[in-house]
Amino acid sequence: MLAYLGAMERLESCNSIWLLDEALMQFCRIPRGSDPANAVSATWRRYYAFSDDPDTGAFRVALDQTRTRWLSSCRHRDPCPRCAGEVTAEVVIPPPAAVTAGGPQA
Ligand SMILES: [Zn+2]
Repeated sequence: MLAYLGAMERLESCNSIWLLDEALMQFCRIPRGSDPANAVSATWRRYYAFSDDPDTGAFRVALDQTRTRWLSSCRHRDPCPRCAGEVTAEVVIPPPAAVTAGGPQA
């Protein structure tokens, strides 16, 4: 199974791992951080073309034969200008100023 997955194109965007089976022209997306072995239970979709821009990290797949509908994404990088590597981190929002006003301040 792993050897089979290893034959696929694997792309990591900020949110997902994309697996492209270039032999069957099918792709699926699984959440980043999950085991690629789970891809067997993922939803695989047919694609008709794959376009990759190594300069920007953008890539996309055509969802129909006439290539009018595309699904696009960008590669996650390290360090990543898009998510800064904080995809899985919780966002901490400071309390409103009214709550801290008059309170102990550093
Ligand atoms: Zn990213």
